[in-house]
Amino acid sequence: MKQLFVSLTLFLSLTLNAQLKSPADFLPDYGKHVTYYHQLEAYFAQLGQNSDMIQHTVYGQTYEGRNLHAYYISTPDNLKNLENIRQNHLNQIGMSGKPASVGNKAIVWLSFNVHGNEPAAAESAMNVAYELINPDNAATKEWLKDIIVVLDPCLNPDGYSRYGNWLHSITGQQLHPEQSDREHMELWPGGRENHYAYDLNRDWAWQVQQESQQRIALYNQWMPMVHVDVHEMGFNEPYFFPPAAEPMHDFITKAQKDFHTAIGEMTSKKFDEKGWSYYTREIFDLFYPSYGDTYPTFNGAVGMTYEQGGIGAGRAVKTNSGTMLTLQDRINHHTTAILTAVETAAWQREKLIKNFRSYFKDSRENPKGKYETYIVKNGGRAEELAKLLTRNNIAFTYADESKKLSGYHYQSDKDKDFTLEPNDIIISARQTKSVLTQVLFEPVARLSDSLSYDITAWDLPHAFGVESYGLKKSLTVKTRNAPKYKGKFEYERVYAFYVPWNGRASVKVLAQLHSNKIKVRKATKASFYRGINIQPGDLVVLKGDNAQISEFEQTMKVMLEGKRDFEVIESGFSLTGADLGSEAYPLLEAPKVLLLSGKGVSSTEFGQVWFYFDNILEYPVSIVDVANLGWVKLSEFTTLVIADGWYDFNETQKAQIDTFIDNGGKVIVQGNALNIFNDRQGYSLTHFATETSRNAEKDADDAEELEARYYNYESSLRRGISSSVSGAIIENVLDKTHPLSYGLGDTYFSLKTTSSYYQLLKGASNVIYVPNGYKSFGFIGSSLKKKLSNTVTYAVEHKGNGQIVYMVDNPLFRGFWESGNLLFSNAVFLVD
Ligand SMILES: [Zn+2]
Repeated sequence: MKQLFVSLTLFLSLTLNAQLKSPADFLPDYGKHVTYYHQLEAYFAQLGQNSDMIQHTVYGQTYEGRNLHAYYISTPDNLKNLENIRQNHLNQIGMSGKPASVGNKAIVWLSFNVHGNEPAAAESAMNVAYELINPDNAATKEWLKDIIVVLDPCLNPDGYSRYGNWLHSITGQQLHPEQSDREHMELWPGGRENHYAYDLNRDWAWQVQQESQQRIALYNQWMPMVHVDVHEMGFNEPYFFPPAAEPMHDFITKAQKDFHTAIGEMTSKKFDEKGWSYYTREIFDLFYPSYGDTYPTFNGAVGMTYEQGGIGAGRAVKTNSGTMLTLQDRINHHTTAILTAVETAAWQREKLIKNFRSYFKDSRENPKGKYETYIVKNGGRAEELAKLLTRNNIAFTYADESKKLSGYHYQSDKDKDFTLEPNDIIISARQTKSVLTQVLFEPVARLSDSLSYDITAWDLPHAFGVESYGLKKSLTVKTRNAPKYKGKFEYERVYAFYVPWNGRASVKVLAQLHSNKIKVRKATKASFYRGINIQPGDLVVLKGDNAQISEFEQTMKVMLEGKRDFEVIESGFSLTGADLGSEAYPLLEAPKVLLLSGKGVSSTEFGQVWFYFDNILEYPVSIVDVANLGWVKLSEFTTLVIADGWYDFNETQKAQIDTFIDNGGKVIVQGNALNIFNDRQGYSLTHFATETSRNAEKDADDAEELEARYYNYESSLRRGISSSVSGAIIENVLDKTHPLSYGLGDTYFSLKTTSSYYQLLKGASNVIYVPNGYKSFGFIGSSLKKKLSNTVTYAVEHKGNGQIVYMVDNPLFRGFWESGNLLFSNAVFLVD
């Protein structure tokens, strides 16, 4: 009986495997053309139907409605035990999870194609999955005995499809290997980013986009020990694999670096055998925490980026070195490298598991950073910060009593006394996610090399603009798991609703009021009502203004659903300040917004504006390609948003914008787009307010040039960075009386990502600017650092009946700068 059963299973598994097809057998164009996403899904479905070594889950959906998939690949026995293995693994690192006797298994996560126009990644995912399962490949069967592979074949199906569909639409039977062929020139916005033109490989920690949120939810259920992020780079580059480049964050452990070296050695042997070109330890650093290599690293894993030369290569391209690079070549290189990563993990399994467990124990018992407890004062944007912590599985509590304390105050960059109050958020570094917590909260991270690929400061207290403290010790105090909300003030009748202006929830209320044609006013003056302290920027909705709405109270309750701190005012009579009938409460007009898109516009910066209106605020925005601007009646709009970009307006288009402003329109212009107005007749935007300062700077630059004559070649190459900034936090002071700064607090910390600067403008309101002796966090070149004093970051200029809001720094940068989101909203909704 037993024998019969064995031969029956053998028979079944043979017939199962007999139908198992390689990508080349299943897809006739495999390696010759980019696979459509639905074909990729069909390929994996075929693997699942014909093998008991693969299981599948749909972990989310993209904005365009495509499914996001993860596949678990291991031996049939391990897969049967998958949930126990997962529970035991989490339990071993101190996360909730039940212990089970399942042996020690290593968890290896493979991520492909976060950038849509890097298709050799997803293509090789099919090949890697096949080789892991293929019964003829004995080696992979051996590795999988003690390894669970979690394979995500495409992190960005919308971008992947945009690229692939476009490539199919422009290619015929013949190849187009010449570099200038349109096959190698993607159209705007290209397929790199997701639906909203967000770069998902900058979004791991912030999870602004739903693809990231859904993926990290699954990631946190698995907490892999190795994470491989598969990319492509420019097609003239060879291949990159670990070890990574400096700068490396100080919190990266020796064990993590040692594994990089082991993998580099293993992979280089395979590439040497085939004579393939590669490099390591250059360009791709490990610092900014929101990438597919760093984020896993700060979650204890060995996080790695793999890059094949291939962006823009289409099906085949003649590279600068004269060789032909085909899609099949790119697949081959990736397949070899990624399988080697799995092989190395199998070989180093015992060490990996031991190191991973001690990583969490060590960091919990001996936090690596300067501060051990972080306090975020309650209210407004603190709620959004709490959501970000939850998405990252970072534990926190709310204070349930008051206590006098002393600690590092982020906003003044000094130690000071303060009072902890109920509902303040407390985050302890003595927790499982200790390292990630400290990476996100430490005000300064040491840079081992100032040549970084990305921003060098990002701490959440500055990003969210919430008063915060760092304590060097643990804190013992009464806490709760949820904030306690105070009851509403009692009232006999509704005269008005009051909505504090302190974060995106406030803006969302305003957007809804506008969409529902409910009249709303903004406060321009501080006033005091019974129990309510109105600040400039706060909203009031008067019942008397909205007589047309039959069920006013009910309608308002719906509008205010996401906004807990609203209040009812029962009398328009103020105790101090202005009564509600005063002109200190002007009516707000619903803006009708037009956003420019198309060639020349930075796709990511455009995407940030679009996403903010469309998804965060759910407020309509018209999107028009720059090329079609001439056909648009601008007078039908109140607000024109010109995102960062390289615009080349002709005189007619410029005149059209001038007229729009003169007739009362508002232009919000960002980053490089400021060049449209720079040194232009009728506008005050100019880099230097006076000839004297222009000349002084020229003299200083000349002196530096003269000094540089004595530099050798290498130091002259590095000299460029003294006048650059890849991303640093810069203190700004603000004119609190101006609507552009309403709700932002006493200081604004701007994330500066370009070296462009303008001295305070003559003839405009310099609302938010960098003062003398300003504080900064992160790397700024020494020469630029001096020049930024007394430069303006956000200014408003009146011209004719309209105005221009100049934004030198992008407040919506990657969507995570929460105080920037409010600043942008001020420009759209409150500045008039
Ligand atoms: Zn990439």
